[in-house]
Amino acid sequence: MAFIEVENLTVSYGETVAINDISFQLEPGVIGLIGPNGAGKTTLIRTFLGFIRPVQGRITISGFSLPKEILKVRAIVGHMPEREVVSPKVTAVSFLVYCGRLVGMSYVDALERSHEVLNYVGLQEARYRPMQTYSTGMLQRVKLAQAILHDPKILILDEPTNGLDPDGRLEMLQLIREISEQRGVTTILSTHLLPDVQNLCSQIVVLKKGKLVYCGDLQSLIDSKVNHYEVSVQPPMETFKEELKKTGIKFQELPQEVLSLHLPESIQQQEIFRCAQRAGTIIRSFVPAGGSLAELFQSKLDKEEVS
Ligand code: ADP
Repeated sequence: MAFIEVENLTVSYGETVAINDISFQLEPGVIGLIGPNGAGKTTLIRTFLGFIRPVQGRITISGFSLPKEILKVRAIVGHMPEREVVSPKVTAVSFLVYCGRLVGMSYVDALERSHEVLNYVGLQEARYRPMQTYSTGMLQRVKLAQAILHDPKILILDEPTNGLDPDGRLEMLQLIREISEQRGVTTILSTHLLPDVQNLCSQIVVLKKGKLVYCGDLQSLIDSKVNHYEVSVQPPMETFKEELKKTGIKFQELPQEVLSLHLPESIQQQEIFRCAQRAGTIIRSFVPAGGSLAELFQSKLDKEEVS
């Protein structure tokens, strides 16, 4: 059984079908949940947290079935919502102790654990100040701290780098990486920032208009879609260029005798090596240049016919 299994899931708000008969399976790791606005990402998260009952379908998380075993699921899931959840006049310590008490910890345990997670997310003396004095980065850290307070096995993060400056964003990504790698926490990262996905995630779920566009390994998707390479061969390059033309591979010349090649979908990358062989030369460097992850997704989303 996979760590997360979703089978024929449909979720509606009245007449609006937000998730339309999707099925996928995920293994432990860092998982990117992506898709344009209205794709159904928030609805999927809310369904995983048991806030919405599906119209149909089966969900299993770490062996527990939803909605039947929702309390067991909530015990192992931490959630960092996108919206603000903190109270402005309360200190971070008081807020976290309150959260700890809500999940059943004694006051002493909640206090001890609050300091532990605040140390972990790097909130120092500011933890004793009312949260209305915090920067966006500090507030994001408090939200992350409350999500890991009860030592969850799964972490669901909704736009965790929203509103952060470049340094704050890198620090947040590093924290998420540490939590998932060092503590073995499976992390679902819902974001519109594709560089964050590329930076952290090994698997992705792509939704569009409530339908599943892709679920699986991120690297395989990138490998299967890259059709742009930067290649240099041992000079002279003329015969190699002739062979490329004959094969139907377009190229542009870059400085330092590098060729930028675009393969049509019908031609495999091995053809580049065959061209070099026929030209009697050898390839000195071969770098997949690809498009950005954003271009890759845009082309994937554009191609999918979702009614
Ligand atoms: P995403 O998070 O990917 O932007 P959502 O899950 O918020 O997508 O929305 C999916 C669909 O469900 C959209 O068509 C949206 O308008 C609709 N929707 C979301 N929340 C509600 C709601 N509370 N009531 C009615 N429709 C909703």
